[in-house]
Amino acid sequence: MTHVLDGNAVGDRIRDGLREGIDDLADAGVTPGLATVLMSDDPASETYVSMKMKACEEVGIDSIHRELDPDAPAEELFGTVEELNDDPAVNGILVQMPVPDHVDDREVLRSIDPLKDVDGFHPENVGRLVAGNPRFKPCTPHGVQKLLDAADVETEGADAVVVGRSDIVGKPMANLLIQKADGGNATTTVCHSRTGDLAAKTREADIVIAAAGVPEMIDGSMLKEGATVIDVGVNRVDADTEKGYELVGDVEFESAEEVADVITPVPGGVGPMTITMLLYNTVKAASLQHDHPVDL
Ligand code: NDP
Repeated sequence: MTHVLDGNAVGDRIRDGLREGIDDLADAGVTPGLATVLMSDDPASETYVSMKMKACEEVGIDSIHRELDPDAPAEELFGTVEELNDDPAVNGILVQMPVPDHVDDREVLRSIDPLKDVDGFHPENVGRLVAGNPRFKPCTPHGVQKLLDAADVETEGADAVVVGRSDIVGKPMANLLIQKADGGNATTTVCHSRTGDLAAKTREADIVIAAAGVPEMIDGSMLKEGATVIDVGVNRVDADTEKGYELVGDVEFESAEEVADVITPVPGGVGPMTITMLLYNTVKAASLQHDHPVDL
């Protein structure tokens, strides 16, 4: 029978473990703190930030929030990041993307102290990941790794296909899968919008990670019997619901479920894991900054 992976349940188990780490840090007089910076009036960004702050409170992480006018000069954002870099109560900093067009987002990522870069997007942390010595693994791919582990899916020796090559999901996901480490050692193919015959690639794969942002683009006919299918995509499509839309993944769940051995739903699969791994990185950041190892 197909195993439908419950991201909320796996995430809750990890959060329980984090609470123990936070208790450990409390014994050393440390409360982890995560700063969120919002420079946008986009309702989706506001919702993401408030979800992250709420998740912090639930596990006992202090949450510090800074909100900037989207029309403010870029220097104001860099000044805020600098102030948070220097604040010892702040262990992790997250600038909610996207930032307004007049702010260079790459410069924003570079401005964050790499030891507080809990998203793992600073070039130093990207380099460490590629070199096989990660400090902070990017939250979504790390969450996928934890889901695979929770379902006892062996990556070593498996043929994996990652659909998508973005800096935040596809590339770091592929990097984690090829590491000589637990959760890695997979033979990994990265597909993107210029891939010639996507179905030919996915049909060969033991593990398919879909992160393209195209509603239900992968159906059961594109999968190998017994495959593991992790759906990162979150897409709004018009629907006859109260809100006028519904969320679907990049995978057509009904037909894929018929073929796959393990599959994640949307919502309730990868989504809850992303925030969980942000909390994980914040606790890890506090532990590194205070040189107080905790078991995570
Ligand atoms: P991006 O738009 O940055 O990247 C999408 C990638 O998919 C690109 O590399 C693009 O190729 C590739 N792609 C697009 N269309 C196709 C196609 N038809 N065939 C093959 N490849 C294609 O998106 P993100 O990586 O930021 O996000 C991907 C999805 O994951 C989105 O739905 C997003 O909402 C979701 N997401 C979910 C998270 C969660 O917590 N669950 C967290 C982050 C993202 P190319 O490079 O050639 O343009």
